[in-house]
Amino acid sequence: MEKGMSYGSDYKYIPATSLKSGTGDEIRPDVYYHTIQIVNIALIGRPGSSFVLIDAGMPHSADTIISLTENRYGPDTRPDAIILTHGHFDHVGALIELVEHWDVPVYAHELELPYLTGKKSYPEPDMTVEGGMVAKMSPIFPIEPINLGDRVDRLPSDGTVPHLPGFRWIHTPGHSSGHVSFFRDSDGVLIAGDAFVTVKQEYLYRVFTQEKEISGPPRYLTPDWHAAWESVKKLEALKPAAAVTGHGIPIQGEELSQNLEKLARDFDKIAIPDYGKYLN
Ligand SMILES: [Zn+2]
Ligand SMILES: [Zn+2]
Repeated sequence: MEKGMSYGSDYKYIPATSLKSGTGDEIRPDVYYHTIQIVNIALIGRPGSSFVLIDAGMPHSADTIISLTENRYGPDTRPDAIILTHGHFDHVGALIELVEHWDVPVYAHELELPYLTGKKSYPEPDMTVEGGMVAKMSPIFPIEPINLGDRVDRLPSDGTVPHLPGFRWIHTPGHSSGHVSFFRDSDGVLIAGDAFVTVKQEYLYRVFTQEKEISGPPRYLTPDWHAAWESVKKLEALKPAAAVTGHGIPIQGEELSQNLEKLARDFDKIAIPDYGKYLN
């Protein structure tokens, strides 16, 4: 591994998967998502043009991400940048191998940088939170920070997204302090990250089947529910037309607007767990 970059010592393969693993689709001609086991990555840019990778999948998924990228954009292509919604293990799992292979810059929100430069661990997952098997297995999830050294930069403070003209980043904290989502005003495309998801991520069976059901951020890793609710309200106010979420199947049109409105209104009933250590 290149000098100056390392994963945390608790980094490991996580044996969890879904029926959608290894599949993906275009929600716009230039917006493609792909499911790596239980998490989504997004490739923004039409085949034949430059592109950006959003998030970096599960641990040990670099070969998969490189080959699906080459399938879409051609052999030996590489993105202009890798841009992160946040630094949880399932969104940075292949990041070091990808940076080494492609030699491209990484961007994230300023408040997420301590978790990406080896300075700060995420709060421990809450296995006692209301939820199913994924919540119960969450103590095995890596929480020690990845260290990207000087290979990661903060997103520009003016809201623009490097290499993605037309998109702006929106600070959506709660699930993590430097969590961001990406929004394109021209056609309402939203890359939501884990600000909200379309599968009840705490429940192994639902994760496996990817049964579509709008939900707040994954409960076991969300320390600030008040901020998380505010973030969902912020995204709902944008009236997005289509959303790729960090977990679950993308959601569009009326199904999105109705469900997101309901989530923003009834977040306390739908998203906030009845019990768990990060309440109030
Ligand atoms: Zn997360
Ligand atoms: Zn996630």
